[in-house]
Amino acid sequence: MTHAVVLGASMGGLLAARALVGFYDRITVVDRDPLPEDAGHRRGVPQARHFHTILLRGEQALNGMFPGFTEELLAKGALPVGFNVDARFVLAGHPMVRVDTGAADVQVTRPVLEGAVRARVADQPGVRLLPECDVVGPVLSNGRVTGVRVVRGGVEEELAADLVIDAMGRSGRARSWLASWGLPTPAEERIDVNMVYASRLVRPAEPFPDKLVLVGPVPGRPTGFAFAAQEDGLWMVTQVGMAGDHPPTDEAEFLAFLKRSAPPDVQDAVAAAEPLTAIRTHRFPASLRRRYERLRGFPPGLLVFGDAMCSFNPIYGQGMTVAALESEALRRCLEDGGADLARRFFRAAGRIIDPVWQLNALGDLALPEIPGHRSPSTKALNRYVARLQRVATHDPVAARAFIRTIGLLQPPTSILRPDVLARVVVGGVRCG
Ligand SMILES: Cc1cc2nc3c(=O)[nH]c(=O)nc-3n(C[C@H](O)[C@H](O)[C@H](O)COP(=O)(O)OP(=O)(O)OC[C@H]3O[C@@H](n4cnc5c(N)ncnc54)[C@H](O)[C@@H]3O)c2cc1C
Repeated sequence: MTHAVVLGASMGGLLAARALVGFYDRITVVDRDPLPEDAGHRRGVPQARHFHTILLRGEQALNGMFPGFTEELLAKGALPVGFNVDARFVLAGHPMVRVDTGAADVQVTRPVLEGAVRARVADQPGVRLLPECDVVGPVLSNGRVTGVRVVRGGVEEELAADLVIDAMGRSGRARSWLASWGLPTPAEERIDVNMVYASRLVRPAEPFPDKLVLVGPVPGRPTGFAFAAQEDGLWMVTQVGMAGDHPPTDEAEFLAFLKRSAPPDVQDAVAAAEPLTAIRTHRFPASLRRRYERLRGFPPGLLVFGDAMCSFNPIYGQGMTVAALESEALRRCLEDGGADLARRFFRAAGRIIDPVWQLNALGDLALPEIPGHRSPSTKALNRYVARLQRVATHDPVAARAFIRTIGLLQPPTSILRPDVLARVVVGGVRCG
């Protein structure tokens, strides 16, 4: 009987577990939290109180793993959102033209999304969820990870395993385990964004015409917000502030802060809405990437997954989608056999992360407030993207290319395709 243990039952751990189905007889997913029956908040995922979007590419992947998943979310009250027919984007200060970009999404709060994924994973053959189980650390024997020590009900025990996956989020401890075993540790790259999220759920006083309004930061004002319809007539108001320019939690100041980035109709709707929760904050100091794919000598029997490998600036909404793509990659690696799994998986994950990390860096470094080295190519690309965003205020080809790229439906190089480039150079063609 083969056994895999996944450490962490958030989106990363659950999607890692899904990849293992059919390859291991038993798959145990442990988490230190009690896991709610359905949708519910828990301590280990504090970010769930803030706006979460699953990009279309991620939704495609989830539907591949869990047939009928979108319909299931819709039945739970999720809203279908056409980009950017039902959504209003103001990126880098430019309101994007309303065209059907062919990209659609479902909007739902994170606890509902995670609850639905958890139920689907728990239904898979061989999977067992083990809540209230605190991870102490893996067991290394003759250079191989052979299990993990956990504390359950105050008692420490060892779970023997053929494979252990660290999916414990950005504080994931694989790096310190490697160091304690005297093995090389992955280089860490970071982009210091010094960001705070502040969010609350509200019920608007009157119907609001869009399902999503999203305003991104601009040079000189590193703040933005999302005003997003969720299930059950709820709306999420999320404000973000980077480079130390942080949103407040005081009621009056929260509204005043919104005035800096929100158009008047959103300000009015939020001011008139009934607040349903307190304003909660979440601090996000830096995006972090750990280069496991560059390591030589990683112990067999161990993998690292999700935010533990790369934690992206959340304003771009990519973390869960990348975890879904890593799950697809892990499955492909397992189909090719178990030998040398870590090296093959880290390389595959690295290829998924590379373009997303570059998109993050490009967006962050477009803000002069964010520290970091800007190479000549970064500066040139940022000038191009700024122009593309200006052109996308009226040109449907440019808008479509941009929306599909940030939705990870196509590689970042797509914005340099000749048809898009031509529009950017000539200043775009108006639709209609
Ligand atoms: C404010 C914010 C907003 C975000 N918005 C988006 C978005 O819009 N779209 C998107 O795709 N992504 C978003 N993300 C990122 C997304 O939340 C993560 O990418 C996603 O949750 C996958 O992370 P993970 O499962 O690897 O780690 P996490 O979600 O951090 O989960 C780690 C899990 O490990 C458990 N754990 C930790 N330590 C132990 C231990 N010692 N023993 C047992 N269990 C342990 C925790 O309880 C938790 O369940 C956002 C992140 C933040 C911070």
